[in-house]
Amino acid sequence: MPSYRDLPSSALIQEASNWRRDFHAHPELGYSEHRTSEKVAQLLESFGLKVTRGIGGTGVVATLQNGVGPSIGLRADMDALPMQENSCAPHASCLPGCMHACGHDGHTSILLATARHLSESNDFNGCVYFIFQPAEETGAGARAMITDGLFERFPMEAIYGLHNWPGLPVDTVGVNHGAMMASQDTFEIHILGSGAHAAMPERGNDPIIVATQLVSALQSIVSRRVSPLNPAVLSVTVIEAGSAYNIIPQIATIKGTVRCLDQDVRNQVQEMITTMVSNLPPAFGAEGTVKYMEGYPVTKNNPTCAERVRGVATELLGDNHVVWNEKASMASEDFAFMLEACPGAYFWLGADGASASKPLHHPSYDFNDDLLPTGVRLFSALLHSHQTNPLLK
Ligand SMILES: [Zn+2]
Ligand SMILES: [Zn+2]
Repeated sequence: MPSYRDLPSSALIQEASNWRRDFHAHPELGYSEHRTSEKVAQLLESFGLKVTRGIGGTGVVATLQNGVGPSIGLRADMDALPMQENSCAPHASCLPGCMHACGHDGHTSILLATARHLSESNDFNGCVYFIFQPAEETGAGARAMITDGLFERFPMEAIYGLHNWPGLPVDTVGVNHGAMMASQDTFEIHILGSGAHAAMPERGNDPIIVATQLVSALQSIVSRRVSPLNPAVLSVTVIEAGSAYNIIPQIATIKGTVRCLDQDVRNQVQEMITTMVSNLPPAFGAEGTVKYMEGYPVTKNNPTCAERVRGVATELLGDNHVVWNEKASMASEDFAFMLEACPGAYFWLGADGASASKPLHHPSYDFNDDLLPTGVRLFSALLHSHQTNPLLK
């Protein structure tokens, strides 16, 4: 009987590469991963696993139980992006305006191959839940699975997820003991002024002037009110107002996003935006309202679980292939919801081969299949870590 500690076979990796290319050719947007999740579920069943479909929409969970012991969860995301692929690869997207530009095709294939690899051994005691989530890109599929009872129906002591990472070399892991990725919120501000003829501004109250003052004031939040030791980004990305050169409009709209690596800072920024929008426009005789929409939380690792990732990665890949205390990214990730609900860790797996990978979300990005065996080995080694040293004793 093969051991779960064996290296994944080259035949399995070849198969995983075939799955990956098939997913790449048939991308599906968040909550529409019907073909993908059905293929995932059928493959998991063919490995002999117990499969639960339809968790959080198109989410799938497979259970591999062997005797009694610690339970862990391993997670992959399945969704693609609404963008046109620019590629001549034979496995390029068949669907115009939709592509796997973030490598979720690769994450799904790594987790499938891990499921197959672990299902072929029974020399461990405990349980592994393979979690395939929908809608990571803006759709909060992780939260949808949690709302559907993920952690009550499949209780686990820890959960792990990975993302391929252009900018780090292949076979290199980046991880830290705290925030890996930022929170992500959006806001929409309306300034209500009073319209008038552009040649007679005294007859109205120009909301454009108020909006430009407010944009400057908003920039002072991060630069003057938040400690420089606490990273935060506040970007105004949309200003809309007016319809003609000779009309002062009634209303101006400002939209933007806020990213933070700390929940307290996130609360602070939200509060200061609200205060500024309430107080600044009235000083100009206008009125301001803000709709602040909380998106993904900070993706924050449990320090003990992050140490485990560091430990297994160092053992498998060597010291010089592990970037401990990796700098966080100001992008965001909905695995954050899972890490709020369960101890766990999220890590990056380097994606740069002989030539650097295209950036994530680039129209010519393609997941690097060289990561497949390393991903399987890391996930399997995390199972071993919990076998030999359970979190819950
Ligand atoms: Zn993405
Ligand atoms: Zn992604």
